[in-house]
Amino acid sequence: MDLYEYQGRELFARHGLPVLGGGVAETPGAARAIAERLGGRVVVKAQVKVGGRGKAGGVKLADTAEEAQARAADILGMDIKGHTVHQVMITTTADIAEEYYFSYLLDRANRTFLCIASVAGGMEIEQVAHEAPEKVAKVLIDATKGVNDATAREIVAKGGFPAEVADQVVDIAVKLWQAFVAEDATLVEVNPLAKTGDGTVLCLDAKVTLDANADFRHPDHAARADQAADDPLEQAAKARDLNYVKLDGEVGIIGNGAGLVMSTLDVVAYAGEAYGGVKPANFLDIGGGASAEVMANGLEIVLSDPAVKSIFVNVFGGITACDAVANGIVSALDLLKQRGEDVTKPLVVRLDGNNAEEGRRILDSAANPLVERVDTMDGAAQRVAELAATGV
Ligand code: GDP
Ligand code: MN
Repeated sequence: MDLYEYQGRELFARHGLPVLGGGVAETPGAARAIAERLGGRVVVKAQVKVGGRGKAGGVKLADTAEEAQARAADILGMDIKGHTVHQVMITTTADIAEEYYFSYLLDRANRTFLCIASVAGGMEIEQVAHEAPEKVAKVLIDATKGVNDATAREIVAKGGFPAEVADQVVDIAVKLWQAFVAEDATLVEVNPLAKTGDGTVLCLDAKVTLDANADFRHPDHAARADQAADDPLEQAAKARDLNYVKLDGEVGIIGNGAGLVMSTLDVVAYAGEAYGGVKPANFLDIGGGASAEVMANGLEIVLSDPAVKSIFVNVFGGITACDAVANGIVSALDLLKQRGEDVTKPLVVRLDGNNAEEGRRILDSAANPLVERVDTMDGAAQRVAELAATGV
């Protein structure tokens, strides 16, 4: 789960990291009230779970409370890389002398934790790494040892931080690591970590990703989960215990087993190239059971996606054999009719594996005009892409 910057700042503050005070507002009036309370110059920042807000015009300075209200009015409702701004954070502004970068993250490829630090912060670290890789220090962190003062000194030296901020950055590096571990985060990123005019080092931005697998250890994390930012289809799927991820394409995908669904996404994207770039609309794994009810729930979610033009049901019969799945598909379509869903989108079904013959016979005898049976995965992908592109 990604946190909003203001939530990340709160988390940082709880772990003793230096952040500036502020508040969150959903209206320009509320933004003004916060600015009045803070007094003086403030910064108004769009709260969206995407980087590059500064460049997109989502971070503005304001000299007075009236101005803060006006900037909040500009920023609220803005679209930043497809994310609508519903909240702004108002904080005391820092007078920035230098901008650094500091992060800890789970480095999956190397099966370890990694610290990335640079004195060339502010802009995107990928760009710095590309243009001036020597300015980006990467230090592997041994999970069993963590970051103590000595490790932190090593990071600060490797990163080339100026001597006058070294002690402060060491302190921040240690506390940030403690926060990373205590909160079960997979990413904590501070960009900019700023040196102000008077030489104080402050965390001016906070990007935090928490590991949802550890939610059971953190009852407080659930309170932060904001459903408004989740896709409504993903929410509906979650409520039905379905493993669903919304994607950008036109072909609805339903399969049993994560591996099969992943490869289905690939074959559909590949087949779709011949039809002007037709792509999968979602990932949906209905698991091994694949009962009629689960199938109906899955179909309902996929069908309710307005972008979906055709649906590929790709099932490999195992413990739940193809005849059971075929019966599931047939009764799922009946069930949807009973629920008042008007199913009009074509389905391509590929059944293989245990009892495939019987499953195919059941589909054929049900003779639903919306259902087409294609017995190979590539053939079915081809057909479903064609249906999405041409409708026939
Ligand atoms: P991002 O673009 O989404 O990463 O948002 P940031 O929070 O990093 O803000 C972008 C840029 O705005 C920073 O790199 C700073 O240059 C600037 N900025 C952010 N907060 C302040 C502040 O308190 N004072 C000043 N002067 N600039 C700020
Ligand atoms: Mn930033």
